[in-house]
Amino acid sequence: MIPPGETIGIVGGGQLGRMLALAAAQLGYRCHVYAPEPDSIAADVCAQFTNAAWDDRAALARFGEACAVVTYEFENVPFEAMAAVEAVAPLHPAARALEVAQDRANEKRFVEGLGGRPAPWACVDGAADLAEAIGTIGAPGILKTRRDGYDGKGQWRIMAAADAEGLELPGKPLVYEGFIDFAAEFSVLLVRGADGDIRFWDTPENVHKGGILSTSTVPARELIAAQVPEARALAAKLADGLGYVGVLTLEFFATAGGPVFNEMAPRVHNSGHWTIEGALTSQFENHVRAICGLPLGATDLAARGVVMENLIGEDAHDWAQILSDPANHLHLYGKAAVRPGRKMGHVTRLVL
Ligand code: AMP
Repeated sequence: MIPPGETIGIVGGGQLGRMLALAAAQLGYRCHVYAPEPDSIAADVCAQFTNAAWDDRAALARFGEACAVVTYEFENVPFEAMAAVEAVAPLHPAARALEVAQDRANEKRFVEGLGGRPAPWACVDGAADLAEAIGTIGAPGILKTRRDGYDGKGQWRIMAAADAEGLELPGKPLVYEGFIDFAAEFSVLLVRGADGDIRFWDTPENVHKGGILSTSTVPARELIAAQVPEARALAAKLADGLGYVGVLTLEFFATAGGPVFNEMAPRVHNSGHWTIEGALTSQFENHVRAICGLPLGATDLAARGVVMENLIGEDAHDWAQILSDPANHLHLYGKAAVRPGRKMGHVTRLVL
């Protein structure tokens, strides 16, 4: 057990790290951020900041040695960097979870091995593979980079086989996925403690716009609720199989044939931001409790319902108007520049 007063290392310097650090501070911990960008909105609220590159082995070792436990808020950290930290400090979730989650092909194979069902998919390493994948899987479909994609970045929609002809491929390993005609999207959010105790939060219904999460609503509609037990069973198997410690998120498509696995995130997740006000214990606090070996907090709903809306790009300029409604909980991440498609903050409303 890592008692309050100790230092938690957070790898990655974005809003998830910032909200983790705020929850850690409430429990009396200090946080130390490691990030390669000099401006970090997580470091802004932390006691210490190491600003160094992912391949700076000496800096990674010093960082690990200065922390009682380390976690990550960003899954595109090179695996080797996390393995280097894991050699000197307890790392939760373990680097193995990152290795599975940061490559879409590994992730799909792992899930299939546990009996889960992703969209039909194939690896694509060149134009010939793509033609073959479209021939087998059909169109429409989505071509995605295996690594480093997020918020719809690194994705190309292919509406018909002809769209693939002459497409300039990015020269990186890709996967082609059949387009799923889903009724809705949802995520399973769980926390697993060091002792294997698993707790789930209520499942949000998620709406994406342009590949970016727009809203998460709890409770989800019945068509989703009916698919939650199967999706939870898969998520629990995945967490147990990885010996996972911390918050884990799995995203699904609700289809007429049951839940189709989309992707996993080995970390706190945007579709769980509603838990800050909407659950008895937030995803951030329970992640801190889990990685420090503390007892987990209750994940029950704190209201009849909750709606979380992301503030993307220019939306953040509306902060004064949002605050004029006293029922709104406004979260701004402190990012200096507003850019289209950039997550600037979110607003949560409880249904009492
Ligand atoms: P991802 O980054 O893979 O989660 O994709 C972002 C969003 O794009 C998803 O939440 C869906 O709204 C949409 N999307 C991704 N893959 C598929 C698919 N195979 N079929 C239908 N929609 C998809």
